[in-house]
Amino acid sequence: MVVVNVTPRLLILGGTTEARNLAERLVARGKVDVVSSLAGRVASPGMPPGQVRIGGFDGATGLMEWIRAHGIRAVIDATHPFAATMSWNAAAAAAASHVPLLALRRTAWAPGEGDRWHEATSLGHAALMLPELGNRHFLTIGRQGVSSFADVSGAWFLVRSIDPPDEPTPPQMELLLDRGPYWLETEILLMRGRRIDTVITKNSGGAATAAKLIAARELGLPVVMVQRPATPGGVPEVADVQGVLEWVDAQIR
Ligand code: NAP
Repeated sequence: MVVVNVTPRLLILGGTTEARNLAERLVARGKVDVVSSLAGRVASPGMPPGQVRIGGFDGATGLMEWIRAHGIRAVIDATHPFAATMSWNAAAAAAASHVPLLALRRTAWAPGEGDRWHEATSLGHAALMLPELGNRHFLTIGRQGVSSFADVSGAWFLVRSIDPPDEPTPPQMELLLDRGPYWLETEILLMRGRRIDTVITKNSGGAATAAKLIAARELGLPVVMVQRPATPGGVPEVADVQGVLEWVDAQIR
């Protein structure tokens, strides 16, 4: 009898620092084959080790077919907390393919003493709040969704993102192309220098971009915090890479 040992293959749905860190740790341990999937939104993404595929799957059905065709044994949804479509597709595809799914999601930021947060349910809601909060806004929501602020009348925006935002953009804006992590001192200098009176952010969580929140607190500025979209229920969730490694070990035991 011939016994064939097949190394289990995992799919990481990525596009985040955590997903890249996870791929690094899994590849270094060598117990599984790792395929990372990127949406292809960023012009020059940080490439994780292991296999990488780039581009959409064509919805939940396409993802299900891809999982089956590539012999995937487990899926880790390590997408950004605002990449909700992918998370819902992952839940549907994993269930249909009878493959275990784990979500790696950063803990959301929570306000502390001295914070002046205004919670918004969507980017559109955030845009409606701005006229009462000031005229000079620091829009730090990434490239996607800037168009939600194109019609805020009389407002000036400092827009910071890795790649330029899609049109339409606000008529009065300065674009700052930059990639985190960011530091408290430079965030304060930036906000002071541009005479910012409101910071708008998604509740992405994580340390790499949290300095803007502390800077806003120290400068006494209001923060419009866009809440996370709903994610599918019934999917186990961990907040860090170590939690994923333990889950993977349990799956392949
Ligand atoms: P989304 O709205 O949830 O997904 C839209 C479509 O993009 C999906 O239906 C899927 O296309 C494709 N897609 C998304 N993530 C993918 C992945 N990891 N691999 C292959 N295809 C993927 O996602 P999004 O908000 O546009 O974000 C796109 C990517 O950027 C994600 O990987 C996310 O982790 C990263 N990101 C997003 C944000 C944010 O604020 N939204 C911030 C930082 C990084 P198909 O239906 O064709 O499969």
